[in-house]
Amino acid sequence: MFLKNEKIKITVSELSTYFSCPRKLYYSCRGHEQFHSSSPSYMEHLVLKEVAMQYSELLKGSSSKDDVLSADFDSMLLQVMDELGIIYPDEVSGFTQEKMSEVAENVRSFLPEIQENLSEQVENPEICKIADMISSSDNEPYLQSEKLNVTGVPYRLLSMDDSFVPVMIKTSKAPENGVWNNERLHVTSFAMLAEEAHGVPIKSGLVIYAKSGHFRKVNIHSNDRRQVLKAIGRARKIKDGKMPDKNESALCASCEFTEMCNVKASLASKLL
Ligand code: SF4
Repeated sequence: MFLKNEKIKITVSELSTYFSCPRKLYYSCRGHEQFHSSSPSYMEHLVLKEVAMQYSELLKGSSSKDDVLSADFDSMLLQVMDELGIIYPDEVSGFTQEKMSEVAENVRSFLPEIQENLSEQVENPEICKIADMISSSDNEPYLQSEKLNVTGVPYRLLSMDDSFVPVMIKTSKAPENGVWNNERLHVTSFAMLAEEAHGVPIKSGLVIYAKSGHFRKVNIHSNDRRQVLKAIGRARKIKDGKMPDKNESALCASCEFTEMCNVKASLASKLL
């Protein structure tokens, strides 16, 4: 039966893939795995995510830079590694103890920078207030927009100053200032769903960069919403079968689909 384009449901996670590269969405929604669940880089992503979930609690319990600098980050990582198999049994089952130790060592190399950056943030009252709220809530809210036919689950949705602040954790490297453009659109997507659910405009979001311990607040503008709306329409067409043009970028070098993408591109050029 022909599926009407507007009826195709989109998730915020798919939009995030689209923001990274439209072709990645094309491949991933046709059964090709974007991340190999048995790859060390995917396991590192999971460990960093779990480590980042501890940052707010740490800031909440610290009243000075010295408090953060004297915290035992090694023990925090050990605890995360201990609990990983309980939280992600499927993913961890494919890993030997030796491979897990390599992943832990890699993450351990980020800890000094994380600790230093978190210690700077303990002096920022706004970040401390947000960290306090994050550590007091433990739900990942399911958001659904009937209007857009989009669903998503942010890490947190904080109720602040008569509005809401969607929060997400990213394990990518943080830019020098602010957040990456695709991550601003990602958090905007959550804001748009939350606006429909709660009926209030949302003006900002927060990105926690796991690898460096940065908390970055981001303002959401009309132009971001416009871009998300366009992306939803385009993502629907891609899910419906339209192959987007190849968008060569620095990402291609480390992309899981690079071989597939090059083959398709050269086949297409032979046919022209
Ligand atoms: S190889 Fe480049 S264009 Fe192709 S899917 Fe990956 S990032 Fe996108």
